[in-house]
Amino acid sequence: MRFLPRLFANNRAWAADRTAKDPAFFERLCAIQRPEYLWIGCADSRVPANEIVGLAPGEMFVHRNVANIVRVDDRNCLSVLQYGIDTLGISQVIVCGHYQCGGVQTAFGPHTHQPLEGWIEQIRALRHAHAAELDRLSDDAERWHRLCELNVGAQVRTLNGLPIVVEARGRGQVVHIHGWMYDLRDGLLRDLEVSED
Ligand SMILES: [Zn+2]
Repeated sequence: MRFLPRLFANNRAWAADRTAKDPAFFERLCAIQRPEYLWIGCADSRVPANEIVGLAPGEMFVHRNVANIVRVDDRNCLSVLQYGIDTLGISQVIVCGHYQCGGVQTAFGPHTHQPLEGWIEQIRALRHAHAAELDRLSDDAERWHRLCELNVGAQVRTLNGLPIVVEARGRGQVVHIHGWMYDLRDGLLRDLEVSED
């Protein structure tokens, strides 16, 4: 292998290990995709979606971007959501933010270059909207962490108002939307209890 041989070696070992433990594993995955969960999380390399919730390939549909944002003009995220809800029939949607999120931190700093600046503009707006609450906190780390949480709440609210979700619920389909935080310091998830259904 000319490029990145370690990754190909890892891949061969992983596929062999999967097959050794469960000979029908890949055959089953080819036959059907029926995950129960849709994960909308941050692209941060320290928050590997399947791994932190102990789910195998086939068990979770995943969309990740910088700072786990759901934008009404983002065809990428909305297509994942549409396919997940309409085609796969997913009933559990999880927006998972994390503390020490670099995307959220960018919203505290000076304006950066495009396209990142445009991407995180709604987090800047959220920061300004919650300025009074954030200013009452004792230090920058606490303000950063709180904005990470507020950002998840905002994405949950956006999801609840999207036609894809509203129409699915109108048809009688169950769609729960959960807002979670992942803590890099201990590897644990926390439910922000902003779920609606
Ligand atoms: Zn992040």
